[in-house]
Amino acid sequence: MKGYAMLKIGESGWIEKEKPACGPLDAICKPLAVAICTSDVHTLWEGAIGDRHNMILGHEGCAEVVEVGSEVKDFKPGDRVLVPAITPDWNSLEAQAGYAMHSGGMLAGWKFSNFKDGVFSEYFHVNDADGNLAILPESINTVEACMLSDMVPTGFHAVELADVQFGDTVLVIGIGPVGLMSVAGAALRGASRIIAVGTRQVCIDAAKGYGATDFVSYKDGSIEEQVLAMTDGKGVDRVCMAGGDCSTFEAAVKCLKPGGKIGNVNYLGSGDYINIPRVEWGVGMGHKDIRGGLMPGGRLRMEKLAALVTTGRLDLAPLCTHVFEGWEHVEEALLLMKQKPRELIKPIVKLAD
Ligand code: NDP
Ligand code: ZN
Repeated sequence: MKGYAMLKIGESGWIEKEKPACGPLDAICKPLAVAICTSDVHTLWEGAIGDRHNMILGHEGCAEVVEVGSEVKDFKPGDRVLVPAITPDWNSLEAQAGYAMHSGGMLAGWKFSNFKDGVFSEYFHVNDADGNLAILPESINTVEACMLSDMVPTGFHAVELADVQFGDTVLVIGIGPVGLMSVAGAALRGASRIIAVGTRQVCIDAAKGYGATDFVSYKDGSIEEQVLAMTDGKGVDRVCMAGGDCSTFEAAVKCLKPGGKIGNVNYLGSGDYINIPRVEWGVGMGHKDIRGGLMPGGRLRMEKLAALVTTGRLDLAPLCTHVFEGWEHVEEALLLMKQKPRELIKPIVKLAD
């Protein structure tokens, strides 16, 4: 089979590989559409997860099942499925402890294009098919279905980590596709005011549609000064972080009220330490929680998030700004994500309707 692979850090191209083997609990799937993630850019060009040789890229997509193992109960060849970017081993001790995304070690539930070949391939392997796949509802098209792999669950996880409550004022730092889903998730959870940080107009427009009420540009001075000014010096109840870097935590802590929570899903690609401002962290006693997490994967989450789309509570169309048709466009779509032109939110490569 053919797959689009990371050959080594900074180099990618098409390669030939053996079709993956299907274990008793597994499924082999054929993509219907795939999407490019900021994480693919981090992996390939920044060496975020270390060097990898001839590893097929990609972890966002929806697919058709072509083969299932002898123990798989709920899926069969021909089923059209949602595939989460994180595919935990559901019988692991980490899963029993409530942190399936870390099954097999920290962050090890992230398998596609990390510990095994990803989805930019004619066929790909899914472990624990009954635990990880979900039926793709007929009313969700293949392009939008790709957003359910990672953007929706990750953006929503920031909202879960920040524990957004009715009436909260929520600051969402970063409104790329992940942060936009944090805006949507915070609105669904009943936030009264959502302050969004970002500069790209296409993202600002989408954020408005998803429920953002106020906007801050991190290029127009410090985030904390702007947010404190627009909240009469009081700050916010919750912060979702889906952009920035290690230094952005300082702004988040300074913006947060005592008792508030920060939910980070942003990938921190450089720097050894995160600085927490001592005084604004209540000299160690401010009850300001800082949480960070890899999104949980798995079937139940896929089914529940898809239900938000089928019932019309969540519209994924605004994220899908650049749709290509055919495998030959994968490289172009990946390069587009690297360049990140200002009108781009998400590039998707459609392979079937
Ligand atoms: P994007 O690059 O599309 O968006 C980043 C956002 O952050 C943009 O709105 C950008 O603003 C803003 N930003 C950039 N610099 C700063 C700054 N200094 N301060 C504040 N905001 C800033 O990324 P994605 O939405 O695709 O992904 C967001 C992050 O989530 C990435 O780091 C990605 O690797 C990570 N991720 C994490 C996962 C998890 O499970 N935890 C899964 C998937 C992704 P502007 O409008 O100017 O561009
Ligand atoms: Zn992703």
